[in-house]
Amino acid sequence: MSLNEFDFIRRYLQAQPQQDAVLLGIGDDAALVRPEAGEDWCFSTDMMLAGRHFFADDDPADVAHKLLAVNLSDMAAMGARPHWVLLSAALPALDETWLAPFCQTLFAQAAAHGVALIGGDTTRGERVFNITIAGTLPQGRALRRSGAQAGDDIWVSGVLGAAAAGLQHLTGRIRLPENLAAPCVAALRRPQARVALGQALLPVAHAAIDVSDGLLQDLGHILTASGVGADIDAERVPCLPLFKKALPADAVWPLLLAGGDDYELLFTAAVAQRAAIETLAAAVGVSLTRIGRIRAEAGLNCRLNDGSPLTLVRQGYDHFD
Ligand code: ADP
Ligand code: MG
Repeated sequence: MSLNEFDFIRRYLQAQPQQDAVLLGIGDDAALVRPEAGEDWCFSTDMMLAGRHFFADDDPADVAHKLLAVNLSDMAAMGARPHWVLLSAALPALDETWLAPFCQTLFAQAAAHGVALIGGDTTRGERVFNITIAGTLPQGRALRRSGAQAGDDIWVSGVLGAAAAGLQHLTGRIRLPENLAAPCVAALRRPQARVALGQALLPVAHAAIDVSDGLLQDLGHILTASGVGADIDAERVPCLPLFKKALPADAVWPLLLAGGDDYELLFTAAVAQRAAIETLAAAVGVSLTRIGRIRAEAGLNCRLNDGSPLTLVRQGYDHFD
C-alpha cells in the first residue's frame, strides 16, 4: 500500500522516542534543541530536484534564490534568527556558466540575511540541491504549530496563489494576461522568506507555519498539532489585485487556498493583539490579513461571504499524490 507524504512522516519517522535535549523533533517547520540554558537552536533541511522543484532549464540564479528562500522560510515560521547553512549539491557537470550565477545569488541572499555557508558536499549526478539551515531563538519562545488557541485570529502575510498560478502559466495549464503573469512567475521563482516578520511575531503569535504546500493543508497542520478547528472567510484570503478578475472562477479557489509554493507566514494570535500586529506589519513592511478564527471544535470550515461552504478536492500539495 502506498502512503502519502504526511502518513510516512507520522507513522514511520515521528514514531521514534524523543530525546530529552530535543525540545521539538519531527513534525514542525524545524526542530528545536537546547544545548545550554538561555538559547534554543533551530534546524531544518529542504531539498530541491530538477524536474520536480525547478525546471532543468531554469535560470541558475532563480534556483539558488529559491533554494535558500525555502530554507529561510522554515526559520521564519519558527521565529528563529538564521545563522548558518550547509549546502549539498549533485551536479551533472562543473559548468561555470551555470555555477557562477548560482553562487553569486546564493551568497548575495545569504549576506542579506546575515547567514554564512559553513560546509556541504558535492557529487556528480542529476541536479539536486539540499540546504540544511541552523538558527537561534530566545529560550522557550519558538512559534510552534501546536500553540493555536480557541478564539485566536488567523493571519496570513502577503498574497497567496500567485506562485501556483505562475507555475500553471509556465506549464500551459492556464493563460494569464502579461500584467498578472509577471508577478505570478516572480512569486514562483523569487519567493521572499518572511524572516524579519517571523522574529517580530515572537511576542504576539501563538502558532505559526509557512505556507509551502497550500493554505488549507498547512492550516490543517496547525489545527492537528493544536487540537483545535478553524473557520476561514475564503473571500478575505489575500491575492494579487487582478487575480480574481483574470482567472476563471473554478481556477481561483484551488490556486488561492491549495496552490502551494507561497512561502508566506500563517499564524494565530489573540484578538487583543490586533493593534500590535498591525503596528509590527508596518514596521517590517509586510502586509498582514486576518482570514478567520480558531475554534475549539475540530474541523476546518471555509465559507464564502454569502455563507455557502467552499469545498476543494485537494487541500494542498503532496509529493506522492
Ligand atoms: P516543511 O514543509 O515545513 O519543510 P515537511 O512537511 O517537509 O515540513 O516535514 C514535516 C516534518 O517532517 C518536519 O519536522 C521534517 O523535519 C520531518 N521530515 C520530513 N522528512 C523527513 C525525513 N526523511 N527524515 C526525518 N524527518 C523528516
Ligand atoms: Mg515549513
